[in-house]
Parts: sequence; C-alpha cells; structure tokens
Amino acid sequence: MRTGIGYDSHRLAEGRRLIIGGVDIPFERGLLGHSDGDVLCHAIIDSIIGALGLGDIGRHFPDTEPEWKNASSVDMLRQVVDLAHAEGFEVSWIDSTVLAERPRLAPHIDSMKEAISRAGIPSGTVNIKAKTDEGMGFVGKGEGMAAYAVCLLNKL
Ligand code: MG
Repeated sequence: MRTGIGYDSHRLAEGRRLIIGGVDIPFERGLLGHSDGDVLCHAIIDSIIGALGLGDIGRHFPDTEPEWKNASSVDMLRQVVDLAHAEGFEVSWIDSTVLAERPRLAPHIDSMKEAISRAGIPSGTVNIKAKTDEGMGFVGKGEGMAAYAVCLLNKL
C-alpha cells in the first residue's frame, strides 16, 4: 500500500464561479486558477500523484497548457485515477478537509462526493470535512480557500 498527502490553496476573485469538489456553489466570488480552481479536487489529485511517486499536479497538468485552461478538475481527477490504475494501484480511501470561511460548505458535501464518484472514486471511499479558520489568516479573512487530502492506494 501507499499513502499520499495533498495541499492546495486558491485566491477568491470576483467574476468566477465557485467550484469545490466538482460542485457549483452559489457565492459572490469564485476561486481563481488556470483550471476551474477546484481546491479540493487539486488536493486529492496531489495526494494520489504523491502516493504514486510521480511528482505533483503541476507536472501532469501544467498551467502553461491551453488544454487545462478552465478545465474541469473532476476530469483531471479522473485522469489521475486512471493513471493510478495504469500504475497498478486502486484508490482505497481519501480523507480531506476544505477550509473556507464562507459560504457554509456542509450542505454541499454529499453532492461533492457524488461528483467525485464520477471521477472513479466511489462515494463510500471519500470523506470530506469542511471547516472555517475562525477569522484568522487568508482563509479567515476571506482572501482564499485551502484544502488538504490524504489517500491510501492499494496494489491491484
Ligand atoms: Mg490548485
């Protein structure tokens, strides 16, 4: 078995949709990024790539590539799950935490698990937790959002 850790953060900006865990969440600002800025999917992607020992998200999805401009991060996650299979591993478990001061994410967690299942990670093998940073730091001040993920891969 292998474990991996992933971390990501994105700045909040006007005129962007807020997409977290593949879910479009109504809010007055969204996460800025070359892709859709999905901070949770990016943390999960990096945890899987880390467990595979294959570098990081920037190596597999360079932000200089037009192909990944406004790309769906769920599609990127699917590619990484397929890469894990090609390397002889299955994703056995993901645990994750999203840090966001606003909006409240708890009501969207089941939809996020459903969206992530479309990337080939069944909803029964993903846990998503949502927390605020109690007004402290860049998350607390509403400048951005962050996410952590750990994964367990098992040899097929
Ligand atoms: Mg990112």
